[in-house]
Amino acid sequence: MTNNQWVLARTPLGGFPHEDDFRWQTGALPEIESGQLLTKTIYLSLDPYQWGRRRSGVEVPGDVCHGRTVSQVVSSRREGFEEGDFVFNTNGWQSFGLTGEGISHFGYMYPRKLDAKAASISTAIGVMGMLGLTAYSGLLVQCQPQPGETVIISAASGGVGQVACQLAKIAGCRVIGIAGNAQKLEFLSDVVGVDHCVSHLSEDFEDELRALCPDGCDVYFENVGGKVYEAVLPLLNKNSRITVCGMISQYGNTDGKDPREAWDEIGQPIFSKQQVKVHDLFVGNFVEEHQEPFLSVMGGYVREGQVVYKEDRWEGLEVAPEAFGEMLTGGNFGKTIVVVSEDNSD
Ligand code: NDP
Repeated sequence: MTNNQWVLARTPLGGFPHEDDFRWQTGALPEIESGQLLTKTIYLSLDPYQWGRRRSGVEVPGDVCHGRTVSQVVSSRREGFEEGDFVFNTNGWQSFGLTGEGISHFGYMYPRKLDAKAASISTAIGVMGMLGLTAYSGLLVQCQPQPGETVIISAASGGVGQVACQLAKIAGCRVIGIAGNAQKLEFLSDVVGVDHCVSHLSEDFEDELRALCPDGCDVYFENVGGKVYEAVLPLLNKNSRITVCGMISQYGNTDGKDPREAWDEIGQPIFSKQQVKVHDLFVGNFVEEHQEPFLSVMGGYVREGQVVYKEDRWEGLEVAPEAFGEMLTGGNFGKTIVVVSEDNSD
């Protein structure tokens, strides 16, 4: 057996991913040591934060590209895990990887055994994983939406957005989703169940959004930044809340500035006037306290069909760079995952 890998070929120059940023290589399987698992990657999660790691130099040329994964244990030297077990881990963009002692997992969610009977294993990198916890923490813990309030969510059909929309509906809110193309808007109305949706691609986007908010906006779940953020700002009500989850429209910027800081400056006059509570969101800060309640609450919603979840599946590790670039620029439809090997969990 050989290990296929995508490694970072160079520190990206700026903008969005280019094929020269990545290099394909094959090699032998790594040697497993005490306290570790050797696992075969089944699903690889592609997330916007991975671009930030590559651009900022956290990941350096020659590193296997980082990514969270769902994998199957090939060989175990770690107590509590056996060959054939399914785990959530951090193999990165490769077909096999080591997990456990001495392997960096970036701080949280150390190898976690998955119960394939409880939920489809791919959900561990989606609705039952970091993305679900992001929506839960940003919306429910930080913004605490109340029944009847108007909630606006950008990138609403994406991995985080679709979950945030449904949590806001469950909380009894009037939910407005912002997304790109017509297919995504239809999904938001017909499947996710938002009250209204609007395309940021529309020439009249700002006017259309304003017309949907006759009573203003009480909670804004920010995933996008840029003109979407600027269109929401004047709608913010007194004592409204924002979670700044991400600003994906700015991730190709080359000015070296942190987009959150730049946009915070633009928002300040309105935040002060309207006493808006602005929450910065980093999901890692919520794991210790909220991971268990989140898994329990979300597990119930998913089992009962109160929260549905759309994945955008790409076949084969080879396509990871292309899928990654598409996801960063709106070419995805749902949570982007790469199917690296066969899922035989059911
Ligand atoms: P998505 O699945 O939502 O994919 C990204 C989406 O962003 C695209 O589908 C596209 O949707 C939208 N988008 C891209 N470029 C633009 C643009 N220029 N203008 C408007 N919309 C754009 O990704 P995720 O759910 O994984 O991530 C969503 C956000 O959450 C990101 O900002 C990410 O950084 C953030 N995040 C933050 C975390 C935290 O801890 N704070 C943790 C996880 C994610 P469309 O076609 O509808 O425009």
